[in-house]
Amino acid sequence: MRVIVAGAGLGGLTLAQGLRRSGIDVAVYERDGAHGRPQGVSLHLDERGTAALRACLPPGHRAMAEATLGGPRNRTLLLSEVDGELAIVGSRPADGTRVRPGRQASRRLLRAVLLTGLEDTVRFGAALTRFELCSDGTVRAWFSDGTTDIADVLVGADGVGSTVRRQYLPHARVVDSGRPMLMGATPLRAVAATGLPELIGHSPAAAQVGDTTVAMGIHRFAEPPTAARRRWLPAMPAGVVDSAENYVMWAMAVTQEQLGTVEAPANVWSLATELAADLHPTLRTVVEQAWPDVTVAIRVGVIPPVPKWPVGPVTVIGDAIHLAPGFGGNLAMQDAHRLRDALVRAERGEQSLLAAIGAAEDAMRRDSNPHADLGGRVMPREPRDGAAAEPVGIGTAEAGA
Ligand SMILES: Cc1cc2nc3c(=O)[nH]c(=O)nc-3n(C[C@H](O)[C@H](O)[C@H](O)COP(=O)(O)OP(=O)(O)OC[C@H]3O[C@@H](n4cnc5c(N)ncnc54)[C@H](O)[C@@H]3O)c2cc1C
Repeated sequence: MRVIVAGAGLGGLTLAQGLRRSGIDVAVYERDGAHGRPQGVSLHLDERGTAALRACLPPGHRAMAEATLGGPRNRTLLLSEVDGELAIVGSRPADGTRVRPGRQASRRLLRAVLLTGLEDTVRFGAALTRFELCSDGTVRAWFSDGTTDIADVLVGADGVGSTVRRQYLPHARVVDSGRPMLMGATPLRAVAATGLPELIGHSPAAAQVGDTTVAMGIHRFAEPPTAARRRWLPAMPAGVVDSAENYVMWAMAVTQEQLGTVEAPANVWSLATELAADLHPTLRTVVEQAWPDVTVAIRVGVIPPVPKWPVGPVTVIGDAIHLAPGFGGNLAMQDAHRLRDALVRAERGEQSLLAAIGAAEDAMRRDSNPHADLGGRVMPREPRDGAAAEPVGIGTAEAGA
């Protein structure tokens, strides 16, 4: 069996690793260059993501991914200003109803782990532009670098603006929630003197001050990344770990008016510092000391549920078909895990290829939860007890679709 994966994101790379491990021929085509584009610094990884990594990655990769996770995140905290001090005023267990227990992952490190060993499998700078179903049941795909490829299965793991989805399921829509967010990260050393690290530990926390909510989470690597690479995955490029250090990720909800047309990371960071000017000094420090180049503005989107479609040799996973505020990365990896298992069953002759793909799609539809109401507007995940304000897991609503 030969599989083409469009998109070298979390879902596409997890799938490619899993297929390679199972001896299935796979080629990944990625629109961007090898460094990708800014997509935020951190990822709250719950058991769906970790199970996928465990199943799809070789042992060294798995160990490297786990060694560079942060500490356990079992509850979320609500912070507020009490007598001039930032204090914990509420707490809620991450019981899986809205927030699942997990650990923080550095997106850059995780991506580097996922790419290791796939150097001959991923072709960068090659966006899928269209595909065609052939009469012999195979799929032919065209790419922006002028190449074409043929396979038994084409997987659209090409994110929210998915070209595969637009051609295959043109009725699927992406809806912008109209509630943008600013997200960034700050070296932990820059906030060491504020008392914040001791106050929140590993837990995600949301500080509510007036109308502004700042969500934060500290990532302390379980093992220093440089040592972990030497120990677990020396084949991974050293540059990624050499520059890695403990950090605080933060996010701030803003209005469209506040955001305006600001886009470049340095300008987004300037806007964030302006908005933080009246906040508690600790929160101000978190924002002011952030790395400007990784500060991003995110438009939060959602894909209203897409009814069951006829099964074929083309399928879609991850953000390409369901945007899940809070856990889209986990769902993308879960989809990849399931699809890998399905394709292995087909390869072994335990199930027909189409039945296997259909089973993976059914499971994906059942578990994806885009929180959209009938009008297609986002059902906002409002903080309950303030605790669910952690703004992890967002799909960037790209134009179009
Ligand atoms: C700031 C931020 C914070 C987040 N935090 C969390 C979190 O804490 N937990 C969580 O679970 N989720 C989180 N998410 C969501 C998560 O990042 C996504 O759900 C996840 O990346 C989806 O994975 P994917 O593989 O489906 O798509 P992506 O990771 O978006 O990958 C898609 C890839 O396809 C490529 N591509 C696009 N078009 C084409 C084409 N035509 N041909 C070839 N390649 C193409 C893109 O360049 C990209 O590399 C967050 C998102 C953001 C933006």
